Amino acid sequence: MTLRGRLTTAFLVVVLGPVLLGSIFVAITVATVSRDRTAERLDHATTTVRTGMAAACRQLQAAADAVAVVPPDDRSAVASQLITRGLATDIKIVGQVTARAGGTTIPAPRPVEFTGWQDCAAPADGPATAIAARSMAGNELVTAAQNVDQAFLARLAAASGTEVSLTGGDRPSEEHRRLQAEPGQPLHLTLIVPPSKPTFLYALLPAVVLAVALAAVLVARWLAYSTTRPLGELAWAADRVADGDLDTRVPILRADELGRLAATFNRMTRELQAYVQALTASRDQLRGHLAILGETLSSTHDLHRILQVILRTALAATGARAGLVLLLDPATDQLVARCGVGLPGDWDVPDSELIKRRLPIGPGVLGAVAATGEPRRGQGSPASAEPPCLTYVAVPICAPAVAEEPGDPQPLPDTLGVLALYDRVGGDAFDDADLHTLRTFAGQAGVAVHNVRMHEEAQRLSLTDPLTGLWNYRYLRESLRREVERASRFGRMLAVLVLDLDHFKEVNDTYGHAAGDAVLGEFARRIRVGLREVDVAFRQGGEEFVVLLPETDAYGGAIVAERLGAAVRSRPVAVDGVQIPITVSIGVAVYPEHGENSVQVLAAADRALYAAKNAGRDTYRLAEPGDVTKSGVSSDDHEGNFDQTTAVPGGLRPQQHRRGR
Ligand code: GH3
Ligand code: MG
Ligand code: MG
Repeated sequence: MTLRGRLTTAFLVVVLGPVLLGSIFVAITVATVSRDRTAERLDHATTTVRTGMAAACRQLQAAADAVAVVPPDDRSAVASQLITRGLATDIKIVGQVTARAGGTTIPAPRPVEFTGWQDCAAPADGPATAIAARSMAGNELVTAAQNVDQAFLARLAAASGTEVSLTGGDRPSEEHRRLQAEPGQPLHLTLIVPPSKPTFLYALLPAVVLAVALAAVLVARWLAYSTTRPLGELAWAADRVADGDLDTRVPILRADELGRLAATFNRMTRELQAYVQALTASRDQLRGHLAILGETLSSTHDLHRILQVILRTALAATGARAGLVLLLDPATDQLVARCGVGLPGDWDVPDSELIKRRLPIGPGVLGAVAATGEPRRGQGSPASAEPPCLTYVAVPICAPAVAEEPGDPQPLPDTLGVLALYDRVGGDAFDDADLHTLRTFAGQAGVAVHNVRMHEEAQRLSLTDPLTGLWNYRYLRESLRREVERASRFGRMLAVLVLDLDHFKEVNDTYGHAAGDAVLGEFARRIRVGLREVDVAFRQGGEEFVVLLPETDAYGGAIVAERLGAAVRSRPVAVDGVQIPITVSIGVAVYPEHGENSVQVLAAADRALYAAKNAGRDTYRLAEPGDVTKSGVSSDDHEGNFDQTTAVPGGLRPQQHRRGR
């Protein structure tokens, strides 16, 4: 059953019930009152009829007495007068009295014309055509009679207000009453209260009830309809909203509760619409940021750029105003600010400046996150050394933890830094959802930092020599070309030293290969120690090394060669308690004095080394200025490969000139 049906039924029950009950009560009351009134009328009529009959009897008695008291001869005349005056309809004077009994004169047997006359004093059974009263006058009996005809009955009826008849009423009912003949009232009479015609109101009652019932049905239907119609519209609108049509509105027709409900529904839908729009916009923005993030992660190893994109994406995802990424510097065990967005106050500086901000591990919010690896969120500025804010959330950036062997327990992740966001737009504190989101981005940042560091390490390993820690031959090629170019651009000089340990084969042969390795390591260390910061040392291969001295002329190169030779010669290398004396031969060449390009300069230095070896070793030699033209290498051969010994016929590679000796 629909709500409208239920409401209609409820209204009908509420309205029709009392109406029907009331009308039944009224009907019963009216019937009772009517019955009481009938009985009352009958009582009244009975009294009236008895009184009337008694009066009539007394009148007849008076008439009879009046006739009886006059002389016999005048009696007929008096009787006639009385009849004329209407005191009786008939007066009979009978001459014989046959008997007396108990003081009462009993007339002789009644003549025929007396038949039907009922004596007022002693009525008898039988038909009654008249009532009569008697009076004795000597031997004569004067009888005055009054005809009981329709007119007489009509007078009684008029006086009593009921119908009066001589017959009927065998079965007395509420409307009938039988009056038995008795002295003073000699007739058997039936009083009938005429059935009262239904009054107008009484007839109106069913019509009113019917009309009220009809009106109740109509009103109930209207009420149910008007009550349920706004609900139907609400349900329709809710359906539309559920289907995604957030433009749907419900008309507000009234100011009642349903009107308020409709207004609230409309407000809810409006707010939902605004919320969905904001959500869609932020989702689109976040999608854009994620696309940039994915592209950045897959296309670059520029750590700063990656961190910047991750930070901006995290800001977009959480609606924070500002953010900061700090990475752990293992050398100093401090947090170094790497990139920031929207930071307030004195933290609002470019990232190149921001990198100078360092925070200790432990104190403050950021320090605690780095120390414990636990995220933090809260309100109020965390510490004076950290960016000022109203609310903050900070999570650790961890390296991806990978078990060494499949099945091994996962190791605890290393904390690489901290990702912190400040002051969400709208002023709300950061919630668990923000923390969760930020952890996701911190995870991305952790993978990115780890990948970049792995990449840098691989890069470093591919360019350095594992035994000595110096740059390798591959990096030498690139560095030499770069330094020559730089010297050429700025009109500076560049000294190139080629160093080769003397009789190193014998070291190996005498002390073993491992001792030889140790000697090479120590030799490299002494080179490093003896150089300026701008100078760069390389292991070219075997026991041959190259040193580049930017902005150094031949004289400066000779001094360094001298110093390095002395550093090697001065102290034997101690390996497992054994002192191994070593010396080094060095060839020195200078750009642009001994070569027009990197290949020529290196070849010149090589030849100078050859000269030093020939000079008895443990010494250095400067390249000859004329070597360039003799070598036959064209000045165009900038890209010459050091391995192509044919390119430097005049400047033999160290391995080769030694092999030739
Ligand atoms: P010279 O004075 O003419 O340079 O004599 P040398 O013995 O140093 O010259 P040579 O080129 O004949 O020998 C170089 C030796 O260096 C040969 C090789 O065993 C040794 N050597 C090259 N690389 C390494 C290395 O990585 N470790 C060790 N222990 N020895 C190496
Ligand atoms: Mg050697
Ligand atoms: Mg050698």
